[in-house]
This record gives sequence, C-alpha cells and structure tokens, in this order.
Amino acid sequence: MTKIEVPADHPRKASLDIREKIIEGHEKNIVATAGLLAHGRGEAFDYMIGEATNAEAMDACRAAVAAMLLAKRPVISVNGNACALVPDELVDLSELTNAPLEINLFYYRPEREDAILQALLIAGAKEVLGTHDRPSETIPELSSNRRKVDSEGIAKADVVLVPLEDGDRTEALKAIGKFVITIDLNPMSRTSVYSDITIVDNIVRAAPLMVQYAREMKDWPSEKLNTLVASFDNRKNLNIEVSLMRDHLSHQIDATYKGDEP
Ligand code: ATP
Ligand code: MG
Repeated sequence: MTKIEVPADHPRKASLDIREKIIEGHEKNIVATAGLLAHGRGEAFDYMIGEATNAEAMDACRAAVAAMLLAKRPVISVNGNACALVPDELVDLSELTNAPLEINLFYYRPEREDAILQALLIAGAKEVLGTHDRPSETIPELSSNRRKVDSEGIAKADVVLVPLEDGDRTEALKAIGKFVITIDLNPMSRTSVYSDITIVDNIVRAAPLMVQYAREMKDWPSEKLNTLVASFDNRKNLNIEVSLMRDHLSHQIDATYKGDEP
C-alpha cells in the first residue's frame, strides 16, 4: 500500500501520521490486526485529552523514570504497537535506565516476533529478551500465551514498564509483586487502575519525554528519586486526567457555539 501524505494544514495531521505508522507496522507484521483496533481506542482518548501532554502526565513520566532508575532489575515489555510507534525511544530508554527490552505478544506468531526483533535491532537494540530461543517461565493466574516471560527478564524484574497493556496481564504482574508502570491513554482501563504509575498520554509523546527525563535524572541521588516516587499518587493522577478530559470536551463544544444565543 502506498503511504498517504497528509497535508500539513490538516487539523488531524499528527493523529493521521501516527495512524500511518501503525498501518505500516501492520504491513510489516509488527502490529497484530487486533492492534489496529486497540490503537483506535487509544485515538479516541487522545482526542478527549486534546492530543497534547498535560502537566499531570509530565509528573507521571518523571515518577516513572525515577522508579526505573531506582529499580534493581527494571524491564521494558514491548508489544507490536509500541514497537511500531516508538522503537528508537524504547531502545534509548532501555539504555539510559538499564532496563532490557522484552518482547511479549498477545497474538503470538513467529513472523511477528521476528519482525519486532528486527525493528528493535535496526533501532539499535543490542539485546532483546522474550524471544522463542530464550529460557522462559510462566506467570501464574494468566491463561493466554502472554503468561510466558523471559527467565532473566520479567520473571526476575522488580519494576516493569508495560506500555499499552491488557488489564489481565497487568493484574497478573501485580499479583506476583511487580511494581508496574504503564502508558495508557484511557485513565479508566483496568491497566491504568491496577498500575502503580500510569502515564495518561500517547506513547508517541510520552516515550520521548521519558528519554529526555532519563537523561536529566540518571545521575540524581536516590533520595531525590525516591521522593518523586513516594509522592506520586496514581488514584489522584487518574482522577485529574478524567477531569482534564471532561474540561477539554466542554471547552470544545463551548468554543464552537461561542457567540450564538443559547
Ligand atoms: P484493559 O484491558 O486495561 O481494561 P482495554 O481492554 O480497554 O484495557 P487493551 O486493548 O487491552 O484495552 O489495551 C490497549 C490500551 O492501550 C487501551 O487502553 C488504549 O486506550 C491504549 N492505547 C492504544 N494506543 C495507544 C497509544 N498510542 N498511546 C497510549 N495508549 C494507547
Ligand atoms: Mg484489555
């Protein structure tokens, strides 16, 4: 399929450009067909938040990076959508926080694993965990084939970053005692609610911001990082995000009707 060039002045340009990346990822086997639908759900919430990173999401990004820098064994779980959208940032964040990348797929197919592995290697990854040739074990309480985790990765991790994750798996990771960080545009998803830190933002904006913060914070003393993590309240964070969405939507409607008689 030929790539669609979106005109520069199109009001939804950024969103349509991201969509093109997902479509391209699907053509390369990186994104599962169901991943196209998951992306659509994300787009709807991005619309509600005004397609911009708010101050609350920035705070969540800082707390998340602090938790990763403090961790003994942090891991970044990678699925098809995350890989299609931000492969370079995943590799940078992995290096800056010493968190290996681990492929974990809901819809496993060997060619998908290969395509994701190739994309991560092209982005500069030196090592990728979770591939079929690696030692693995299973997370109890999870029936899908995502219960398989790398023995040297998520199995031993204390902190796991699981962007665009499904609720069942997040719940299972919490049940086995992991500190879970997610990036999820839906503040009401089970993943958002189960996680310790939820960044309510599009991964295409949140991932580069996390890389920037990791560069700034990597030599901070642990007390300073600890304070950021300890003062972060995810329930409060999610409630603020919901009210920001409500405010943004009301504002959109009022702005359209401005000047009209009620
Ligand atoms: P849950 O299983 O946690 O209740 P869900 O079933 O609604 O969530 P899933 O398809 O399991 O959704 O997970 C995908 C999640 O990723 C959705 O919450 C969706 O809003 C979010 N999402 C999709 N694309 C992006 C993106 N580009 N950036 C951030 N979040 C995204
Ligand atoms: Mg789900």
